[in-house]
Formats: sequence, structure tokens, C-alpha cells
Amino acid sequence: MAFSHIVGHELIRKRLQRAAMTGRVANSYLFLGPDGVGKKTLLDAFVAALLCEGEDKPCGRCAACVKVRTRNHPDVVYIVPQKGKKTISVDVIRDVIAEEVYVRPLLGHRKLFVVEDGALLGVPAQNALLKVLEEPPQYAVFLIAAQDAGVFLPTILSRSQQLALRPLPQEQVMAYMAAHYPALSEQHPFLAAFSGGCIGRAKQMAEDGTFLQLRSEANAHMMSLAGSHPAALQGCIAYVAGLSEPERETVLACMIAWLRDSLCVMVARRQDVTNQDQLYELLLFCEKVTKRGVARALDALLALERGLSGNANVGLAVSNALLSVWEELHEEGNRCPL
Ligand SMILES: [Zn+2]
Repeated sequence: MAFSHIVGHELIRKRLQRAAMTGRVANSYLFLGPDGVGKKTLLDAFVAALLCEGEDKPCGRCAACVKVRTRNHPDVVYIVPQKGKKTISVDVIRDVIAEEVYVRPLLGHRKLFVVEDGALLGVPAQNALLKVLEEPPQYAVFLIAAQDAGVFLPTILSRSQQLALRPLPQEQVMAYMAAHYPALSEQHPFLAAFSGGCIGRAKQMAEDGTFLQLRSEANAHMMSLAGSHPAALQGCIAYVAGLSEPERETVLACMIAWLRDSLCVMVARRQDVTNQDQLYELLLFCEKVTKRGVARALDALLALERGLSGNANVGLAVSNALLSVWEELHEEGNRCPL
């Protein structure tokens, strides 16, 4: 929970810590950045720091810190969708305003309003929120996290302090992984690269047993697609079509990374390879395919990735795309074996 435990984001960390220590706090903060970059960790630390009764805020030990950690602090209001709803409706915001915003904090000097996913705030909800942000009670602080500032009305943006969290350098993610997941040392370079500099994502991939399994299955299918055995294509189609939606997303992302890596190998940029622990296999793969074929196969998978969400006929889309991948990897002269 302490700011000192947060990896990276030094400037933002210092800014928030200074605000908590000096008491010069704005009424609204937006934590912006990709999933897993550390928005929630920073936001949680800031919430605790703003309410902490200790010296070095957040101390993690005082009653306020403990209440924040267990989500029992009466002066922290988490704004979430109503049961069964996917977005935060204008009614939710109106209720929060009517029942909470103008009721003074119970324990401390501040009352915090947290929206952990700002993308759930539609325009009517934001407009309702804006009325408070125009003239907030002095004790109220709004803390909203979102991937992208584009989801907010310009008027919300202009009334908030925007904290843009950037992905961390790969070395920083590697160092974190080395300290926390030493058993996965072989996969650290891959996890750091594949996470896109987001420690949260790297952690999730390391802890989710199925992720590394899916990755090795995806890589094995790419290897066999480059081979000459026609059964490989049928096997790959059946495998991808049979996955659950989140599994399929992971497998496609791994297959796309594999093809990108192959291009990196072919243009002598091995330092850019994501699958650093698979260099030998990538070299074997590259011996069997051409650069043009890989580039086109990559296009087919990227198109599949874009087209899958909301596609009713996943099986057909997968078959078509993997057929193209096969044809491209084997070049036009060798049409599909089905
Ligand atoms: Zn404390």
C-alpha cells in the first residue's frame, strides 16, 4: 500500500505523496493509462495516504489505513454500476450526490469518491458528476481511473488533475519479475515484453497457470502450420475454434507475437523478439517460410483478431483466417490442402 512499494511512475508518486503530506489536494484526479500499468495500485495508495492518521502517509498501520485496505472506511465511497447493469447510470451519480457528497466525512477531514473504471461513466452520468465538480464541497475528492482520457467530457478533463501513467521500461518489469517470480526466470524476458511494460499484466500472466500453457500450445501450432503436414491445419482450426473467448484472445495474441518475432528474426532485429526463450524454434520456423508469406499471414491473424468480437460465426472466421495463414506460409503455389 505504501508509495515506496510502487514500481516506476516516480514523478506521479511524488506528486501524490506531496499532496497528501501538505494537504494541498485537488478535488478531482484522473488516473490514466493501459490495463495493468499501475493505476489502481497508485489510486489505492493515494486513498490511504489522504485518510492516514500516521506520519509517513500512508503508514499502512493506523486504523484509517486498515479500514481503507479492507474497504471498510466510511469516508470512501466506491461508485459502481447498479446490480445487473454494465454501466454507471446517471441515477447512481444522482444518488451519490444526494446521499453522500454533501454529507460531511464521518472520521476524517476528507471524503473520497472512487470510480475504478471511468469508461463505465456515460455522458449523462458525467454531466451529473460535472455539477459537483463545478462547485465541490471542500472535503470531497474524486478519484477516477480509466485507460484513456478520450472517454471523458472535455469539461471533466479540464476540472481534474490528469495523471498519465506510461508503460514501464522492460528492464523495470524484468527486475520486478526476478524479485517476485524467480521460478519463472526463463520466461521473464517474454513476460516483460508481452506485458507491454505493464507489471499488472505480467503478474497476471505469471500467476495464471493457463496463460503459459496456452502460449506454448499457440507456439507449437505455429511451428506445425509451417510444416508440410495437412493435418496440422485441421488440428489448428479445431483447437482455436474450440477455445473459450478469453483463451482464444490469448492464443491469437501469442500467434501474432510469434509471426512478428519471425519478421524480427528475418530482418536481423533479434533484440526486438518477444519470445526470447524461443529463438531456436523461431529460427527453425523462419527456415521454412518467406518474409512475404509471414507478413501476409500476420495480416490475416490481425484481421481475425479485429473481426472476432461480436462475430456470431466464430468457427467460420477462424477457419478462413487460419486457411489464409496456411496458404501464405506455404506461398501461393501451395494452395490449401483441405
Ligand atoms: Zn496510516
